[in-house]
Amino acid sequence: SIEPYVGGESKLPGVNRIIKLSSNEGAFGPPPMAVEAITAMAREAHRYPDGGATRLREAIGARFGLDPARIVCGNGSDELIAYLILAYGGEGTELIMPAHGFVMYDLTGRYAGCRVIKVPERNLVADVDAMLAAVGPRTKLVCLVNPNNPTGALLPRNEVERLRAGLRDDILLILDAAYAEYVTDPDYDPGQALVDASGNTVMTRTFSKIFGLGGMRLGWAYMPPNVADVLARIRGPFNVNAAAIQAGIAALAEPGWIERSVAHNEEWRAKLSAGLEAAGIKAWPSACNFVLADFGTAEGAVAADAALRARGVIARMVGGYALPSCLRITVGTAEECQMVIDALTEFMRTKSS
Ligand code: PLP
Repeated sequence: SIEPYVGGESKLPGVNRIIKLSSNEGAFGPPPMAVEAITAMAREAHRYPDGGATRLREAIGARFGLDPARIVCGNGSDELIAYLILAYGGEGTELIMPAHGFVMYDLTGRYAGCRVIKVPERNLVADVDAMLAAVGPRTKLVCLVNPNNPTGALLPRNEVERLRAGLRDDILLILDAAYAEYVTDPDYDPGQALVDASGNTVMTRTFSKIFGLGGMRLGWAYMPPNVADVLARIRGPFNVNAAAIQAGIAALAEPGWIERSVAHNEEWRAKLSAGLEAAGIKAWPSACNFVLADFGTAEGAVAADAALRARGVIARMVGGYALPSCLRITVGTAEECQMVIDALTEFMRTKSS
């Protein structure tokens, strides 16, 4: 008979638990208040959600100092990214992004009919001059993930401002700040100021990372009123479900959640990077809740991935991002990070012996 798959269980000999470090989900799971809110919402499941997600937008606005009228919520930020590209891109237009930018921009851009131009970076950091030089008369969208997935690279505030200043007014700049809450560098702005200052910049955010709600599918974006109006017309009337709305409100209210998550991330991202480097693996600098581990060759990355899997650890191969020598590893719990360090140290030792 065929055995059903049971999540979290492992069939590997000697491995009794699967550790998933492949999607940059927060290390602590969902905030307890969000779990309570989701549970309570189950009793109201027969009711349609508030199509405008009004209380959620107000809570986001209060938390981040933003005008709720300029916030649009989505079924994950992926949904909002897709709508923006479909609304402003299309056949005969160009979308510009850094060479190793988040894959959704490439996928949706091509689906929308745009010519996607991937601009080479400098040492894996977006190159503003090269991006501006790539702009042509057909360019309609410029997409910058900051800090970037899968590289972890951060572009300082003045560079992002220089990018916007160098773009025509009829080009929409999407600043994807999915990892904003993890950033501690004072020279960082997720894009709020630029959205306020220009009529053609959008900042996207998510509850999937630090807020631990990836499975709820909840994202949001902050934008000029005219762009908010466009999204309001093309999104589904109930695109965010009722449990996600309540979970988001509760997650924002969870005391100390961001502070605790950031402190853990700072500590264990540093330990993970140092552990990899000590084992002879390059760890690219990261401002996110993951580390890009570089094994020098594609064969090295494949073998390292296999060694991790043999211990039940799932990391992310990023060959699809044209980074075949790398693995992207999410910062998990202390125990999980230590397990990765031990496994890869052992892997490098046996490889070279
Ligand atoms: N943007 C970036 C840069 C991401 O890394 C991700 C998820 O990995 C997303 C957007 C999508 O997030 P969501 O779960 O909100 O759709």
